[in-house]
Amino acid sequence: MGKIWANSGDSHFVEPDDLFATHLPAGLAARMPRSVRDADGLWETVHVDGQQYRRRIPKPESGAMTDAEFADPHRRVPGAENIPLRLEDLDLEGIWSELTYPSMGAWAFCIRDPELALAGSMAMNDWALEMQQKSPRLVCAAALPLLAIDDAIREAMRARTMGLAAVSLPVRPGPADGHFHSYADPCLDPLWDVLDDLGLVIAFHVGTEPHTPETRTGIRDTGRGGAVLNYAETSFGGQRAACQLAASGVLDARPNLRVIVSEGGAGWVPFMADRLDEGYRQHSAAVSPKLSRLPGEILYEQVYATFQHDRRSSTTTATAQGYRNALFGSDYPHWEGTFGHTQRTLHELCDDLAPEVSHRLRIGAFAELFPHVPTPPADEP
Ligand code: MN
Repeated sequence: MGKIWANSGDSHFVEPDDLFATHLPAGLAARMPRSVRDADGLWETVHVDGQQYRRRIPKPESGAMTDAEFADPHRRVPGAENIPLRLEDLDLEGIWSELTYPSMGAWAFCIRDPELALAGSMAMNDWALEMQQKSPRLVCAAALPLLAIDDAIREAMRARTMGLAAVSLPVRPGPADGHFHSYADPCLDPLWDVLDDLGLVIAFHVGTEPHTPETRTGIRDTGRGGAVLNYAETSFGGQRAACQLAASGVLDARPNLRVIVSEGGAGWVPFMADRLDEGYRQHSAAVSPKLSRLPGEILYEQVYATFQHDRRSSTTTATAQGYRNALFGSDYPHWEGTFGHTQRTLHELCDDLAPEVSHRLRIGAFAELFPHVPTPPADEP
């Protein structure tokens, strides 16, 4: 079984514990996200800007993790923040280039103070740039402080100037208790104009809804089927955000603007495209704004979606449903991803596909989003 290469539209860095202490004044650093583990290692408390979130540490039933590794409070594989070790892992796994998101930084979407959100985003982006500069294979998404749109616009411009090519936005805009409720909100149009002008890709990672400790507890189902239901729930936020941008005309007015939804699978795109088109046609008297293309076509053309293990629904979007923008994502270095068995997963998903379809899913769709990334080595026979 020769090595076949893939780009990953869903990867992460795990930030060093002292990231904020070394990049921010002490008063601000203390309010940025940090995790404190219980003595038993099974639960953690995430502290963010005076809020506390309790959660059980996820551990897969099978896979690459030993009990000793699970007990490690950082659950870090060596490459989580060390670029030479990371590239060794990527070469072994057959991952060439990656779009990377923060890990602890995803909790920054729960911040409610615009000043802290801006300072924290700048610190994360400065650090992301340090990482990205160590290898041309890395595409690090910039965090945007969305609590104040002027701050978001300024930081997007700074990120582009620094050389970052994507911006990470939460799947629901605004803090849990106010501001924007939908990406269709016209007050966000100046941000879309700037992202479009700068050629920045909009990157949504599932599970990034801003929460309060109360709303997070509310969606954390601990009853029958809870763990599976919680995981299924994380799928919807990215779908909703993409649909808002398609139906509202945001993407129609900016046909070069591109969106990627990471870690949410790809099978939902054909389904949602049909739903949007049906709504557009069958409720046409109430539809506003009118679009130059059907909203489902907009979703197909401008929205990309990553999958990892999904054997039923992901590759068939490309082979049977005409969706060209599905792409692989490994979720490295998170344990719920394909680390340790990426080659097996890629072969299982792609070996029966036509070569051009397999290439599009593994390499081509990602390269279309980030054309500056070098071409991967040839696959092994
Ligand atoms: Mn991920």
